[in-house]
Amino acid sequence: MTLRHNWRISEAQALLDKPLMDLLFEAQTVHRRFHDPNEVQVSTLLSIKTGACPEDCKYCPQSARYNTAVQRERLLEVEQVLKAAQAAKAAGSTRFCMGAAWRNPNARDMPYLEKLVKEVKSMGMETCMTLGMLSKDQANTLADAGLDYYNHNVDTSSDFYQEVITTRTYEDRLNTLENVRDAGMKVCSGGIIGLGESVENRATMLTELANLPTHPQSVPINRLVKCEGTPYEANNDVDDFEFIRVIAAARIMMPKSMVRLSAGRESMNEQMQAMCFMAGANSIFYGCKLLTTPNPEESSDQKLFKKLGLKPAKLPYQHDEETTADWLNSANETPKKRQLENIPVAVYRP
Ligand code: SF4
Repeated sequence: MTLRHNWRISEAQALLDKPLMDLLFEAQTVHRRFHDPNEVQVSTLLSIKTGACPEDCKYCPQSARYNTAVQRERLLEVEQVLKAAQAAKAAGSTRFCMGAAWRNPNARDMPYLEKLVKEVKSMGMETCMTLGMLSKDQANTLADAGLDYYNHNVDTSSDFYQEVITTRTYEDRLNTLENVRDAGMKVCSGGIIGLGESVENRATMLTELANLPTHPQSVPINRLVKCEGTPYEANNDVDDFEFIRVIAAARIMMPKSMVRLSAGRESMNEQMQAMCFMAGANSIFYGCKLLTTPNPEESSDQKLFKKLGLKPAKLPYQHDEETTADWLNSANETPKKRQLENIPVAVYRP
């Protein structure tokens, strides 16, 4: 088994159509080859600039085009952001993600963003930002400041994309992802389930993500949070099992990536979240707010971790695809066993 970048949509569709027990078994088998099945990486997401976004993403309450309950807020002061990062670290987060509701950052914002990256990094956390489209120069500037990850979701498949967003193209998204990769940062990119897309659109989105030049190191799978005032406020609910299938297919198609159970988690009961972890999700956002939509309280996450015997990942994962072949040669060993035996470990940083 190698990391593939030549997936066909029909193969992704076949995964999504599999009997659920077979699909879960396959996803668990793949998951255990690359990850500790009892570890979940924990990130915290803070909105550093909320609302008044010029884009028209139909699911988003931060778009200035829709009349929603989101109050427009100015850019947070550096001190406010650092205080939140300290609190996130104390709560067990290893990665701090800062998001701004922009089409793209302005040149005047770059020094502020660089300062945030440097300061948060100096606390010993991984840094991530989601700021909209990035030019090559902006990507290089953020990478030079030490930014580890950049989030830019493809949201959905290229053939359904125009139904969801008209103010930027799918190509624009891919260009930003390329700029991020070329600058040497890790990519966080996934999508949203529940936009009205078909199962084939889901298969296409997963295929497009898995066929990128490198698999995104983080793949957030979001379930639509229906926000009042947005065009998607009355969308049909996504069936729990259909959502779990997407997680499992993402795990199988992008085996080394961290698959993140992302927005929509607050509406999932413990059993549903446990099934998502079983299907291969191994990353979550901690904290009471996910940008502007609610997220389960930290304490309820901690209780769930305890019930399931899960532990927050302490060591950041490494995502160097070139080392994968070594790792696959001993696929039956667990990452921990390899560490104990002092064999070079492809999955964890020492
Ligand atoms: S998803 Fe991002 S880009 Fe789209 S409207 Fe919301 S904040 Fe703006």
